[in-house]
This record gives sequence, C-alpha cells and structure tokens, in this order.
Amino acid sequence: MTNRRGLLIILSSPSGAGKSTLSKRLIEWDPDISFSVSATTRKPREGEVNGQDYYFKSHNEFESLVKNGEMLEHAQVFDNFYGSPKGPVEYAINAGHDVLFDIDWQGGQQVRASALGKHVLSIFILPPSILELERRLKTRAQDSNEVIAGRMVKSRDEISHWPEYDFVLVNDDLNETFGRLKTIISAERLRISQQPELVDIVRTLNNEFEGRP
Ligand code: ADP
Ligand code: 5GP
Repeated sequence: MTNRRGLLIILSSPSGAGKSTLSKRLIEWDPDISFSVSATTRKPREGEVNGQDYYFKSHNEFESLVKNGEMLEHAQVFDNFYGSPKGPVEYAINAGHDVLFDIDWQGGQQVRASALGKHVLSIFILPPSILELERRLKTRAQDSNEVIAGRMVKSRDEISHWPEYDFVLVNDDLNETFGRLKTIISAERLRISQQPELVDIVRTLNNEFEGRP
C-alpha cells in the first residue's frame, strides 16, 4: 500500500509495434504496476493463458459483462470484441497501484472520458517503418498470413490516432524505448494530482513555521 494515487497507463499502437513486449517489461520492472487483463471473444493463440493474457469469453458471456456495467470500456477490434473489466482497475487504483492497459484507440478514448480519466497517462507506440511493422508481425509467427494482412490494413487507421495521446514513442531500439517509457512513468507519478499526501506534508511544513521568530 502506497500513499500515492495509482495511474491508468494506456499503451496503444498498431498491432506488432511492440505493446505486449513493453508491457511485460514494465510489469517485471515494477511490481506496483498491475496489468489490466482484458476480456475478449478472440480465440487464444498458442501459449496464451486464460486469466493471464486475456479472459477468453463467448459472445454471450461478453455481452452480459457489458450489459451488467462490468466493463470500463469495450470495443470491436478487427473481428472480435475486447474490453477492460472495471472491478480490478478500481481496486488497484484505490490501493495506490498503477494499472497498465494494452488497448486500442477506441478503448483509450473511453477510459479518458471515464470517471477515472484524470489519472490517465496515455502513450502511443509507433513502429520505425511499415516494412518493419510487417516484419515484426511475421516473425511473431502467431497469426496466419490472412490475419497479418488484415492487421496491416488496419494499422493505418490506428496510427491516425496518435495526436490523442500524451506521449508518442517510436519503438526502434527496444531498450531505448523501454528506458523512455520508464522515464515518462516516473515523472508522471510526481504530478500533484497523483500525490494526495502533499496537502498533509505542506500542512506539517506550515505548522513548523509556527512559533518561529
Ligand atoms: P504488439 O503487442 O504491439 O502487437 P508485440 O509486442 O507482440 O507487439 O511485438 C511484435 C513482435 O515484434 C514480437 O515478436 C516482438 O518480440 C518484436 N519486437 C517488439 N519490439 C521490438 C523492437 N524494438 N525491435 C525489434 N523487434 C521488436
Ligand atoms: P490482439 O488480438 O493482438 O491481442 O489485440 C488486438 C488489439 O486489441 C490490440 O490493438 C490491443 O491493444 C487491442 N485490445 C486488447 N485488449 C483490449 C481491450 O480490453 N479493449 C480495447 N479497446 N482494445 C483492446
């Protein structure tokens, strides 16, 4: 439990630019950051674990989560539905943990517009080139050629949303991008809005003035 208020850290990018890789590193870097495990109607990829990478849901299950108001945001991305369950986010933020979201621009807009919007730090990841983006999708080797082609077509639309974000990083060298990401998060944690205990600290400082000549 910390005194500071948790941040909602949103990472968005076209598919293949490096969000998942950077997210995994961030979680290893700081255990105070918890990953928002999304629900999705997409089928699991090889190696993906239910409850860890995603909560894999049927269409009906997903619809009832939305209907019952259990999603902070949700959207259709490619041919599937994705959404961020609200409960774990509220719990983590109130306990002073940051929550990391790997979500698309539609989700980013909804979280920014939500009641928790003032605690959002949003970062957009760009690939160094479109050829490199395609190469990364292919070397990840987790999607069929058809799915990769579909994602490449959609990437132009995703990239067009970069100006909506607080920061943009071009993920050329992974270590360099990760270093920049850590710098951004460390600075953002020091914003006045994230430090509720400042009021008490300054009150104590003022009390210490009392009785001085
Ligand atoms: P996303 O989550 O945005 O779809 P991933 O994190 O899965 O993207 O990255 C796609 C592929 O590109 C993975 O194989 C990953 O190891 C690789 N990758 C990520 N960042 C870099 C980088 N800076 N340089 C080279 N390869 C990278
Ligand atoms: P993938 O199928 O590659 O895991 O994810 C496809 C896209 O869906 C990525 O751009 C990812 O950021 C986005 N995505 C994953 N989870 C969510 C979510 O909960 N909400 C929204 N809006 N997008 C998500």
